[in-house]
Amino acid sequence: MAILTYHHIAPCPPSDQDHTGLWVSPQTFEAQLRWLREHHFVGYQVSELASLLVQGRAPQQPWVAITFDDGWYDNYTTALPLLVKYGLKATVFVTVGRLRKGQPTDDPSEMMSPTEIRELADKDIEIGSHTLTHPKLTRLDNEQALREIAGAREMLREILGQPPSTFSYPYGAFSSRVENLVREAGYIAAVSTIRDNRVRPDQLFHLPRVMVMGNTSLRRFAYMFSALYHWVHVWKNRKRWSGAA
Ligand SMILES: [Zn+2]
Repeated sequence: MAILTYHHIAPCPPSDQDHTGLWVSPQTFEAQLRWLREHHFVGYQVSELASLLVQGRAPQQPWVAITFDDGWYDNYTTALPLLVKYGLKATVFVTVGRLRKGQPTDDPSEMMSPTEIRELADKDIEIGSHTLTHPKLTRLDNEQALREIAGAREMLREILGQPPSTFSYPYGAFSSRVENLVREAGYIAAVSTIRDNRVRPDQLFHLPRVMVMGNTSLRRFAYMFSALYHWVHVWKNRKRWSGAA
């Protein structure tokens, strides 16, 4: 059981060797989806998971919520067909102010266009918000932060016909002040970069996730869903939780 974080589904280009972890190859991604299907995982959108948490209901076991941050073009060309093939829902958090305007080029760091995210939404992929311009929200004053949080919601509403209900903090940077702004803007839940594979109702605005990296082996991928992973991270996170209050 876990909310997984991905970025790119593509081989890491030579120009981005500093961020190799953010690039998961299509072969690796497909092997992970096959493993999930073989183990009868049910895929949830983050908003569905959040609704269950609010109602005090448990998701069907075993569950997975696949998420992508930023809105890269390869999510459309590569991840989407594989998600459809394996019948798994997902959530893509897009930086809406950075969506592509024109035709795609050969640049591997290209973003999706508004038309492409609409197509994702039509195929059972939830579109969530990842702000307008991807700032560290904790460094902005309330007015600036609200422009990023509420402005992105409004812009996505214009593109999709309905506002997004979930949010992802750029760089995982949040505070109780930022959480409140996200709540006030009308979102029902937000994901963080805190690592854990279990979710609780009191974590609705900083849901923990597990990041899948380019070099994550299938054995480690399986471990990411285990009770052992959970307890190891409860231990590792103990200071962060007590400090976040
Ligand atoms: Zn991001």
